[in-house]
Amino acid sequence: MNPFSIAIHGGAGTLLKGQMTPEKEENYRKTLENALSAGFEALNSGKSATDVVSLAVQILEDSPLFNAGKGSVFTAEGTHEMDAAIMEGKDLQAGAVSLVSGIKNPILLARDVMEKSEHVFLAGTGAMNFAKSLGYTLEEAAYFYDELRYQQWQELKGTTHFQLDHSKSKETKESKFGTVGAVACDKYGNLAAATSTGGMTNKNWGRIGDTSIIGAGNYANNATCAVSCTGSGEFFIRGVAAYDVSCLMEYKGLSLAEAAAEVVHKRLMNIGGDGGLIAVDTQGNVALPFNTEGMYRGLRTSTGKSIIAIYGD
Ligand code: ASP
Repeated sequence: MNPFSIAIHGGAGTLLKGQMTPEKEENYRKTLENALSAGFEALNSGKSATDVVSLAVQILEDSPLFNAGKGSVFTAEGTHEMDAAIMEGKDLQAGAVSLVSGIKNPILLARDVMEKSEHVFLAGTGAMNFAKSLGYTLEEAAYFYDELRYQQWQELKGTTHFQLDHSKSKETKESKFGTVGAVACDKYGNLAAATSTGGMTNKNWGRIGDTSIIGAGNYANNATCAVSCTGSGEFFIRGVAAYDVSCLMEYKGLSLAEAAAEVVHKRLMNIGGDGGLIAVDTQGNVALPFNTEGMYRGLRTSTGKSIIAIYGD
């Protein structure tokens, strides 16, 4: 049996410890723990890495605490447009959706693109028509409403500015981290990565971040690693960040930890990119680097490692 492991994230950003009450912190930790333990138990019972990452991301999407699914941020038009992607390392199969609205679990739609269509990436109206053809029902706007997200949008509404849901803001008394993701190595040595987001508050003009772009915010390859990213998506797209971790391992022979650190602490920072990523290799090793003040994160391995953490200490 191959060593197996799972890592998850709930977004990276400039969360200040003082902005979080102990009760709220406990809520975040509990939700991370739910996703992590459900994923780990599924791995333990022999489920595939693909099943496990979609399960973990689905649990995080169902929580209003994170900027994905239920907790998605507001666009400039006061709507929610979500992006998600999933990839499996065995045969480089992938599925992604962008700019979808009303879908409770965009990660499941991305998986359906991978498994039930001839395509990899569907966006906007076409993605919605694909969902309808599969019998998806849509949630009302009220399902996605969150008072804090609404207030974050009010600060930017009518301007051309957009921001990460977790950016520091003078007016907002608390911050929430965002995008969610999971990577896993299963008992059979197969890797998978899944990532889901509501994107950036007040985003406009059909803006798409890194999350749904294969190789930028999400990537998996059994020859190297599985990666899920979070942060200012424009930089992760320009740096082709997730694929870059894989390339550094494949072409330069770096270890998972070295490759992940090189991308987050050097290459992204060199172009001004803030954020982090989670990554796993086929030996079940895990790396969780970030260059921000915190990143909601967790990992559990068959060798007995178990971590849930938020800040950089
Ligand atoms: N990477 C996401 C995006 O740019 C945002 C995030 O990670 O919170 O859409």
